[in-house]
Amino acid sequence: MAGIYIHIPYCKQACHYCDFHFSTMLKSVPEMGKAILEEIRMRGDYLGKQSISTIYFGGGTPSLLPAVYISSILSLIRRSFFLTEQTEITLEANPDDLSPEKLKMFFDLGINRLSIGVQSFDNEVLKFINRAHSRDQALKCIEDARKTGFRNINVDLIHSIPGSRPDRWQRDLEIILDIFPEHISSYGLTIEPGTVFGKWHKEKRLIPLEEDLAASEYELLINYLQRAGYDHYEISNFALPGHRSRHNMSYWLGEHYMGIGPGAHSYNGTSRQYNVTNNARYIKSIHHKELPATRETLSRLDQANEYLLTSLRTSWGIDLKVLREKFSFNLLDEQGTYLQRLIQGGLLLQQNEHLILTDKGKLLADQITEDLFLTSP
Ligand code: SF4
Repeated sequence: MAGIYIHIPYCKQACHYCDFHFSTMLKSVPEMGKAILEEIRMRGDYLGKQSISTIYFGGGTPSLLPAVYISSILSLIRRSFFLTEQTEITLEANPDDLSPEKLKMFFDLGINRLSIGVQSFDNEVLKFINRAHSRDQALKCIEDARKTGFRNINVDLIHSIPGSRPDRWQRDLEIILDIFPEHISSYGLTIEPGTVFGKWHKEKRLIPLEEDLAASEYELLINYLQRAGYDHYEISNFALPGHRSRHNMSYWLGEHYMGIGPGAHSYNGTSRQYNVTNNARYIKSIHHKELPATRETLSRLDQANEYLLTSLRTSWGIDLKVLREKFSFNLLDEQGTYLQRLIQGGLLLQQNEHLILTDKGKLLADQITEDLFLTSP
């Protein structure tokens, strides 16, 4: 099984924290639409004969596009690849785009999963991070999506926002549990260079949330959602039974995927490909039938480290047998002392052949992954 990711690189406005690839200049949308279709045609054999378990329209803001663009991309994919009855087709959407009419159009096209960028239900916070919607728009579009027939909805939230208070975050969690979507992704806000928050931080006008407050927000998130029956299957992802995201899972399980559009990445098991992150250059290159991508061949060491990086974030953890048999690394030999320290410190559990982060360990996941990275081939 394999996945297809389509990057739609446009947004209405720039959120202050976001460093994804997007443009707020929409005049190239028609040319971009054509280029995306052409790239799909050019890469018809990238995934071989594998059937497609997930198609994901991400961005940027795919819901900003008229539905006709999504329709022509999906028709071409359906004609060019083998989809099944169960293929998950996700569209990322922002609340301010989701009118009842547009929801119906997306639903009729066969989009069977919506991922809605709500981020917060607090109007002050939404304004602070420069989102284009209000709390009421978010609530209304989720209600409308249900009425339209969507039965698989993800809501994105952000925790650990600078200046946040525990009671504010708790209110967001209470609201999300009233809504009870099938899936919730919640990432802690990080301040990235090149963003408005990055600039404010450099100028000392923005202070990140203190570490202990950020940790309490994350702990509150886990407690609330687990008590409500969500499966905490990856550090930032929670699903009701049977609703883990196939798109996310395909990345974590190392399945092959083809990324289409500027800034999209592709992976075929042995190499990774990165499309140029510039809309004009992307369109021009595709127009000349040249794929605007750089390719990196992954060594066995790269692949083992990618496996470590992704699997440590999941609820099933690192499978030592996979590391031994697929990549010829014995982690217990290489990092035995460090792993014992993590286990004794309550950061890691060993269950048979699996190493799994505890909730306390999840708070330090980035550091632990870095420490575990294998260096010798
Ligand atoms: S967070 Fe989403 S909507 Fe905001 S700028 Fe980034 S891609 Fe666009």
